[in-house]
Amino acid sequence: MSSFDEMDAFEGASLSQRAMARFSQSEGLYLEDLNQSQREAAEQVEGPLLILAGAGTGKTKTLMARVAHLVQKHGVKSREILAVTFTNKAAKEMRDRLEVTPYEIKEPLKWMGTFHSISAKLLRRHAELVDLNSNFTILDADDQLRLLKQLLKVNNVDEKRWPPRLLASIIDDWKNRALTPDKVPAADAGAYNNKGIELYAQYQTRLRELNAVDFGDLLLHMVTIFQTHQDVLEQYQRWFRYILVDEYQDTNVAQYLWLRLLAGAHKNICCVGDDDQSIYGWRGAEVGNILRFEKDFPGAYVVRLEQNYRSTPHILAAASNVIRGNESRLGKELWTDAEEGEKVRLIGHWDGEEEARWIGEEIDAMQGGTRGVRPIGLDEIAILVRASHQMRAFEDRFLTIGLPYKVIGGPRFYERMEIRDAMAYFRLVVSPGDDLAFERIVNTPKRGLGDKAQQTIQMTARENGVSLIDGARIAVDNGLIKGKGGKALRELIDGLARWNAMTRGPRIEVEDDTVIDDGAPMRFGEPEVSHIELAQIILDESGYTAHWQNEKTPEAPGRLENLKELVNQLDNFENLQGFLEHVSLVMDNEQEGDGAKVSIMTLHAAKGLEFPSVFLPGWEDGLFPSQRSMDESGLKGLEEERRLAYVGITRAEEVCTISFAANRRVFGQWQNAMPSRFIDELPEDHVEVLTPPGLYGGGQPTAGIETRAAEANVYNSPGWKRLQARQGQYGTSQPRESRNTVIDATALASFTLGERVFHQKFGYGAVIGIEGDKVEVDFDKAGTKKVVSRFLSAKDDVPF
Ligand code: ATP
Ligand code: MG
Repeated sequence: MSSFDEMDAFEGASLSQRAMARFSQSEGLYLEDLNQSQREAAEQVEGPLLILAGAGTGKTKTLMARVAHLVQKHGVKSREILAVTFTNKAAKEMRDRLEVTPYEIKEPLKWMGTFHSISAKLLRRHAELVDLNSNFTILDADDQLRLLKQLLKVNNVDEKRWPPRLLASIIDDWKNRALTPDKVPAADAGAYNNKGIELYAQYQTRLRELNAVDFGDLLLHMVTIFQTHQDVLEQYQRWFRYILVDEYQDTNVAQYLWLRLLAGAHKNICCVGDDDQSIYGWRGAEVGNILRFEKDFPGAYVVRLEQNYRSTPHILAAASNVIRGNESRLGKELWTDAEEGEKVRLIGHWDGEEEARWIGEEIDAMQGGTRGVRPIGLDEIAILVRASHQMRAFEDRFLTIGLPYKVIGGPRFYERMEIRDAMAYFRLVVSPGDDLAFERIVNTPKRGLGDKAQQTIQMTARENGVSLIDGARIAVDNGLIKGKGGKALRELIDGLARWNAMTRGPRIEVEDDTVIDDGAPMRFGEPEVSHIELAQIILDESGYTAHWQNEKTPEAPGRLENLKELVNQLDNFENLQGFLEHVSLVMDNEQEGDGAKVSIMTLHAAKGLEFPSVFLPGWEDGLFPSQRSMDESGLKGLEEERRLAYVGITRAEEVCTISFAANRRVFGQWQNAMPSRFIDELPEDHVEVLTPPGLYGGGQPTAGIETRAAEANVYNSPGWKRLQARQGQYGTSQPRESRNTVIDATALASFTLGERVFHQKFGYGAVIGIEGDKVEVDFDKAGTKKVVSRFLSAKDDVPF
């Protein structure tokens, strides 16, 4: 209770007097910034209002002006305004901006945040109404799953056939639709082998017993309370006199009901959104809520904004043309009176690494002012990716060249949970004495080794003065850890020993000048499996891959993709050791501090943001639009992907650069990719096709992009043909026909005497001898060495 009472005292009458006084000084400054339609929307404070408008038309800006107007002009108290934003970060940004000119809201909005954060605050105040204590815990996905598993056991459900994660996602879906167990419709009765509804009911009971809620409950419980306790609802209807919602197109049914209940009496609700930017359908968001608004709030004032203030005409035209491909949309036209600026830039690359390298160079050039009309600062630049695994190439490149960057809305690649787990396995395989790594993975995935078993391992290791692995072995051998846990532990220890042996081939005692990587003579033969295969074996045999495959949460596929990308990355190194070293070195390069940084984030996380220069890499069919999304949701999925493309392009103010790579590595093998179908949808007049460096040196940009323009540019270029010839992989056909052909990476390397080459470690050099898959190279700096050919690239492919 206290927070509200405190606030009441805090926001006394003197405050609104002060606010009024301020208003007379800076009267309406925030309105002067607005155009006529925006101003009408900001000033129309009573009754329902819907601002339905395209990207960059000032919806968020209008929302802020409206807050200022309510407070300054109408004496509304900050705490009487409920403002829902999409992320906590957006809430913080808005709060900061509201404090300064022209808004001048001195008392921060207490009730500004996401649906979840606001609901959590409210639920603490009324927990007893849904049989909870106010100190309830909010479960994370892991706890939630553990709970479901217990339930399945009690109910004799076969976990193998009916994965608990499937149940978790079904329940989540019901919660998104605001359905308590008794309200789940008969049509869903068959869910989860006819047991879904009953298990859902049991799960809710169990949560109550534990005094816990999951994420979905935060909203669901509040909706239930509002529906069943009129007095509580009325209290909040009185308190929250004005309700404002940003990014309204991404609300789900539960959120919609929550809003409708709260606004039900005074109907002072203002929602702003853009149906073309609805990108959370996969999480239960319903664009239909926009259409429903006018029905539920009859007489709603609807404002459409058409002038875009963010982007140049070329960028806007490109975005508009792409989104026109969607059938289910309300349809609106945008215009701008901004200066023409640059065309949208399109470029194709040989592979993802080159794409990252090129973007790094472009950023340098932009920053130094050697490209474009003005120097663009690092914090004015963003790289927006479709899938988070794409970030790895950029992070690696930027760390290597010392380009400051930050990852928004998630951890950096090498800091992700699954990447750290996988690397802990690799570390342990390479150095079995790495106790920290052992601690991390001993019970990941779950092996039934709880605190007690882990303490036994620690103690045994300490008593014997050995590493944890050895301690574990002794503990198992002596029966100190028994049962299922003991068996699983033995499997792990045996596995680690087996994988460790696989890092080497048979020992050979020869004087040979072939080097692996550190100049030392080769002491072992080639391992029988490559380190890339070994990495995959480790992840699979340890049960780690399966751990994520069985997970049915929305994040799980992304984590699996990150693991794939990790394995791909190994191709750049000669062995696991070299790779691990690289990671610790690049992570060390990272500059801390508050200096300007390039932002890297997913398209989803970029909603609502804007940057002078935006890079959109990886526009390849399958990656973007995402194959998974199309497989799962067909045309609906494709349209959601197209909206993501629209969101991406419309983040750019001055420069928008779209790129794709002709090849991506998948598990260390080349797979060729088709340029995204969205590239076809870019309007020719507004796009400039750039010539990639190195690969096509001297070639002219090809005009005409009717059919996958870049494809024409790339695949008809002399560079491409040369590569084709050298690889001998594609035959005479174009990649379009050989789509999804898997090419062995090792086959890419066929060098000729005298050819200039590049090696990751030794730099540039000339080929002076060839012997099987070993190449003798006279390196400019490192002298003559024999290296394995697969770690060499032809110089032309390395456009430094
Ligand atoms: P999105 O759909 O991407 O969330 P939005 O409609 O919320 O976009 P805003 O972020 O509010 O748009 O505004 C886009 C940009 O245009 C901002 O930089 C904003 O300051 C500017 N802007 C908006 N309206 C005006 C105006 N009337 N005059 C000048 N600049 C404006
Ligand atoms: Mg906005």
